[in-house]
Amino acid sequence: MLSPDLETRLNEQMRSEFSSAHLYLQMAAHFETSGFPGFSAWMRAQADEERAHAMRFFDFILDRGGTAVLGAVEAPPAEFGSPLEVFEASLAHERTITTAIDGLYEGADRATSAFLDWFATEQVEEEATVSQIVESLKLAGQSGPALLIMDRDLGSRSTAPDPGA
Ligand code: MG
Repeated sequence: MLSPDLETRLNEQMRSEFSSAHLYLQMAAHFETSGFPGFSAWMRAQADEERAHAMRFFDFILDRGGTAVLGAVEAPPAEFGSPLEVFEASLAHERTITTAIDGLYEGADRATSAFLDWFATEQVEEEATVSQIVESLKLAGQSGPALLIMDRDLGSRSTAPDPGA
């Protein structure tokens, strides 16, 4: 059985994961309309992953006999800048998620801690991946050919379903 406080905080993280999906889907729309179909596909896959993350919380809360409460999803910004600015915003967002996941360990019981370990590991990978994209975009600068190559490369991202979802 989850403590009421932990249940509230897990629900809040579930809401936050759904908000992340919303944010990345909005970024996908931005890239689609600004001539970067590959970046758009990457963001769409990212949105799917975030939704799968939210569903992990949904299922965990229910499996522990808790009540899953779907809160309001935050509205993402309507406008975005250059690809570099979008991926920098994405990196900053992932860092706040990592901090939030770390915070959930406080007061967590053993089963919840074990559940959170998957997310802690996942966040290391998320941050590393997005950091690398940010660095590549910095190198590409304003070069059209370099950006088009990156767009093509990121568009080939696999959208294999989350095996744990
Ligand atoms: Mg996530």
